[in-house]
Amino acid sequence: NEVTMEKIVALCKGRGFVYPGSEIYGGLANTWDYGPLGVEFKNNIKKAWWKKFVQESKYNVGLDAAILMNPKTWEASGHIGGFSDPLIDCKNCNSRFRADKLIEDYMAEKGEEIIVDGWPNEKLEAFIADNGIKCPDCGKTDFTSIRQFNLMFKTFQGVTEDTKSQIYLRPETAQGIFVNFKNVARTSRKKIPFGIAQIGKSFRNEITPGNFIFRIREFEQMELEFFCKPGTDLEWFDYWKNYCRNFLDSLGMNMEKLRSRDHSQEELSHYSNATTDLEYLFPFGWGELWGIADRTDFDLRQHSKFSGEEMTFTEGEGKDKETYIPYCIEPSLGADRVALAFLIDAYDEETVTDAKGKEDTRVIMHFHPALAPFKAAVLPLAKKLADQAEPVYDELSKYFNVDYDVTGSIGKRYRREDEIGTPYCICVDFQTEEDGCVTIRDRDTMEQTRLPIDQVRSYIEERLEF
Ligand code: ATP
Repeated sequence: NEVTMEKIVALCKGRGFVYPGSEIYGGLANTWDYGPLGVEFKNNIKKAWWKKFVQESKYNVGLDAAILMNPKTWEASGHIGGFSDPLIDCKNCNSRFRADKLIEDYMAEKGEEIIVDGWPNEKLEAFIADNGIKCPDCGKTDFTSIRQFNLMFKTFQGVTEDTKSQIYLRPETAQGIFVNFKNVARTSRKKIPFGIAQIGKSFRNEITPGNFIFRIREFEQMELEFFCKPGTDLEWFDYWKNYCRNFLDSLGMNMEKLRSRDHSQEELSHYSNATTDLEYLFPFGWGELWGIADRTDFDLRQHSKFSGEEMTFTEGEGKDKETYIPYCIEPSLGADRVALAFLIDAYDEETVTDAKGKEDTRVIMHFHPALAPFKAAVLPLAKKLADQAEPVYDELSKYFNVDYDVTGSIGKRYRREDEIGTPYCICVDFQTEEDGCVTIRDRDTMEQTRLPIDQVRSYIEERLEF
């Protein structure tokens, strides 16, 4: 009963979580569209993140910056010069690969783990040659040398398509935050330490996208840039690392499938004091979920240099007055990637025996109720009970997302709701008119409780908390 990517992709497609993009035209490689349940699910994840990182944090405020930015931004951030992956081609079949991933996958197949981030190209090339790594597509060992491939999508603004009008789709949301540092500091009247949080689309022309929504070219990020006084950065780094872990824990993620991996000196970016990746054990191996980095004052200093604007913060009065460029802690999480982790984490199959003794498989998505697309489903036992069931739906749907289903046997309807992770089924039966009660069935335990209709809302709302 192992969870596989095939099972997750099939369930997502079959039940309306995620469809292949542009499907009627034969698709567009590695694009995915979120269906009716997927959009609810991903929105719930983004809402949960916003709740924890903005609403419940006295330090942080939100922002929604533009995707298109002045191209100078990307010079300052280093993306034009350095945001590239090592590209290698197979000379035999012309397939293209990321040299670092080629090595990591080769070692993973041997059951060994290797981190090659930060290796120079010569070292990657030598490793591929020395180990006789084969092209995964044709099996030959004849590769070109490595060249750097910039991951930024280019486009043009305005009617002329020349280099002066060339702009980029942002490859991360973070820079929209840095360029607004002074605006936010001034208008929010926040004092250091404070953070700016943002959720939005990012674009990377990945060489080898794949593993469903794990690595895609258009994705959503949930990023926090937390500004603090130099010297306090490592303390805050620890604070946010714990905060991020607790966030996943509070939403029911299996903590045994989560690990923190600290970057070694070789892997660390030149400007970073410390970086830790929170990694999840996907069916295809450990993968980065959340990158948490102490970025020092690198970004604000760069923007100050390229724009001529001072990016300092002044605190204290009189002789205690101090002006400095804040240091920055950045926890960066992919919404699609963490959605995939939650989908995998929730998946379960159970063998159940029905009243006639027949064995059957029950597929259940054990989502935390806060993440489940539907919080409840109103199920009249028979079609003629609609008059009693509809008002229950009308009332509850004012407060949260509720499904309504009248077709098929009640057993089949329960199974359908289990498979999409609806935590509570509300069955309206022939007694309801008399006693004003409904039966609430718990998705995970299948236990049933009889409850007066006017208590159903609070019963469910209490269970949505995290
Ligand atoms: P990788 O090594 O997997 O390419 P990265 O180190 O380049 O990732 P970051 O730049 O740290 O990733 O991005 C922060 C987060 O954004 C990642 O932890 C991940 O959750 C998400 N992310 C990055 N690239 C993608 C992508 N192509 N598709 C989906 N999510 C992504």
